[in-house]
Amino acid sequence: MAQLINGREIAKQVRQETAVKVAALKERGVACGLAVVLVGENPASKVYVRMKQKACAEVGIYSEEHKLPETTTREELLTLVDQLNADSKIHGILVQLPLPDGIDELEVLSRVDPKKDVDGFHPINVGRLSIGEDTLVPCTPAGVIEMLHREDDSIQGQKVVVLGRSNIVGKPVAQLFLRENATVTVCHSRTKDLAAECRQADILVVAVGRPAMVKREWVKPGAVVIDVGINRVDDALVGDVDFDSVSEVAGRITPVPGGVGPMTIAMLMSNTATAADASS
Ligand code: NDP
Repeated sequence: MAQLINGREIAKQVRQETAVKVAALKERGVACGLAVVLVGENPASKVYVRMKQKACAEVGIYSEEHKLPETTTREELLTLVDQLNADSKIHGILVQLPLPDGIDELEVLSRVDPKKDVDGFHPINVGRLSIGEDTLVPCTPAGVIEMLHREDDSIQGQKVVVLGRSNIVGKPVAQLFLRENATVTVCHSRTKDLAAECRQADILVVAVGRPAMVKREWVKPGAVVIDVGINRVDDALVGDVDFDSVSEVAGRITPVPGGVGPMTIAMLMSNTATAADASS
């Protein structure tokens, strides 16, 4: 049976270390601040925003929530982002996605000051990541790498297969693995033989948004399986990996919930402290 990678426990360590950093910054006169912008009534987004605020309170980061109605215009949203960019109390700005139809997400994300872009979605930060510069890195991909580092999993030289190529998870996590000197394959909906590609992986990262899609036959015995997926099925949260069958062959595996999810929020805290530190 696969060993479980306990994301909750690792995330707690990251939050504790961030709290120490936040306290040290406060002693230097820098009170870390995060602004979260939520537009509309998406129920999942509301839950995520609440979790982010709770984490801020725990690590000592000042947080403010800007809740805007579904009818918010592009101009109103951009004006708010401009205000937050200029606000010296705020070191990190997070615009919760998805935005309502009719608002261009890229335009809004590109308006955030890259130095306050704690989600790492600004094109400048995306570019910096891809040319191997230090930058604010998207939280979920950063969480995946942090998890493996803290579990002492070696990444260098390993064959990593990433299933999914979104701008939020698949592409940045592939870039991070490259930076760690892994050999990386990125798969997507047009990949010819997904199962065969996945079976090559020493480390398999799955971010597709399809419940229990990855089966045991897709996984090389002993592989490390990181399940990023969060799917609601009959009121339960399940990942993109068929956990029960894959656990029988994988060497190590992340559960859902309790795997990558908590790491995402912990890395948001860490990014906010990093942004505050860089601003001082
Ligand atoms: P997207 O929908 O943006 O991207 C999904 C990717 O999966 C696409 O690249 C798509 O390919 C690929 N894909 C979809 N269906 C198939 C298929 N049948 N075969 C092969 N490839 C397929 O999703 P996200 O990356 O935003 O999220 C992925 C999952 O991760 C979701 O469950 C989401 O909820 C979860 N998530 C979890 C987070 C966490 O904190 N744990 C944070 C962010 C996301 P193509 O590009 O060809 O369309």
